[in-house]
Amino acid sequence: MAQRSVFRDDHDLFREQVRRFIDEQIAPHYLQWERDGITPRSLWKAAGDAGLLNCQLPEPYGLGGDYGHAACVIEELARANYLGIGFSIHSDMVAPYLMQYATPSVRDTWLPKMARGEAIGAIAMTEPGAGSDLKNLRTRAEAVQGGYRLNGQKTWITNGSNADVAVVVATVAPELGAGGLSLFCVDLHSPGVSRGAPMAKIGQHAQDTTELFFEDVLLPADYLLGEERRGFGYLEQQLAAERLAIALRAAASAEGMLTETVGYVRQRKAFGRPLIDHQNTRFVLASASAQLAMLRSFLDQCLGEQMAGQLDPTRAAMAKLNATELQGQVLDDLLQLHGGYGYSSEYGIGRAWADARALRIFGGTSEILRDIIGRTL
Ligand SMILES: Cc1cc2nc3c(=O)[nH]c(=O)nc-3n(C[C@H](O)[C@H](O)[C@H](O)COP(=O)(O)OP(=O)(O)OC[C@H]3O[C@@H](n4cnc5c(N)ncnc54)[C@H](O)[C@@H]3O)c2cc1C
Repeated sequence: MAQRSVFRDDHDLFREQVRRFIDEQIAPHYLQWERDGITPRSLWKAAGDAGLLNCQLPEPYGLGGDYGHAACVIEELARANYLGIGFSIHSDMVAPYLMQYATPSVRDTWLPKMARGEAIGAIAMTEPGAGSDLKNLRTRAEAVQGGYRLNGQKTWITNGSNADVAVVVATVAPELGAGGLSLFCVDLHSPGVSRGAPMAKIGQHAQDTTELFFEDVLLPADYLLGEERRGFGYLEQQLAAERLAIALRAAASAEGMLTETVGYVRQRKAFGRPLIDHQNTRFVLASASAQLAMLRSFLDQCLGEQMAGQLDPTRAAMAKLNATELQGQVLDDLLQLHGGYGYSSEYGIGRAWADARALRIFGGTSEILRDIIGRTL
């Protein structure tokens, strides 16, 4: 890959540290976690000790780095084909919401623990009847003496079994649609919170994705994030960074699998020669390589804009759309080059292919992203 000028020397050193952590703490155990359907809490503690969580937040809430450090963690996990590890939601979604909109006391309660990996974060937007169309959500926060009473159900919640704290989107005024949405920090060990069984998924098996239920959960008044009824605006403000994070995962996953596949087709023989000596194999690899190089160039531009606090939401939508669609296409082509072994869950490419499918769905589906981009034309 060409030199990436968006990163500084301290990022490069940090990336090396992330790689070592992955080799030592994740690689030997990941297949077992896939069978378990969850990553152990001890991994989060180890990641916290290694300074891999809440990278972009100032100390003591995080590493004291910037979005470039966050990108190193996101990319290296994806490049090594561990898309089921839920660090990015914790560090790059939940933690920034708390940093930006929580009261100082709520921030101090949760963020240092999240940085140390002692508390795990989740974000709870989606409901059985409201995914893309969030303004239809039903989870209700009613004002009561001293705070709010929360009732409702969320689904597809990443880190759902492990999580201790969640940013929950609820309405304080259902008749106002998007105008009633508000964000709350919810301690998931509060009375009235329960969790469903792990959801049966076609990929990301090491990821504990569950439903969450809230029944008369009492929230202290200061657990409201920012102001009432401004939740939709807050979601929009954070979405550009979140979409870029998903785009970076997608690109690094495809690049990692391209490297793996080149190794495979060099050693696998058919008709008396290595697969790479068949022209079709080289053409498929060449197309993937050329398209990924173009994608990388655009993503690094977006990354530079994000680090300068200037990433435009439409460009972030373009980044996620391009990256996740290309990842899907490239991984499918690379799987084909593995023949029957590509379809085996023993080989990384099969896992990458299944894990990747979700990236075109969460964080805004490809259709919603096209809609966002289309409206600006
Ligand atoms: C593995 C995984 C992890 C997830 N993690 C989380 C999480 O941590 N927290 C969380 O809150 N959610 C999470 N989600 C949920 C995810 O954000 C939603 O699935 C996503 O927003 C889509 O919502 P939906 O599933 O209700 O689909 P729907 O909104 O019902 O969409 C169905 C189809 O209709 C299309 N569609 C919808 N509206 C339009 C339109 N206006 N124009 C054209 N097409 C349209 C969609 O693009 C899609 O193809 C996760 C999902 C998955 C798969």
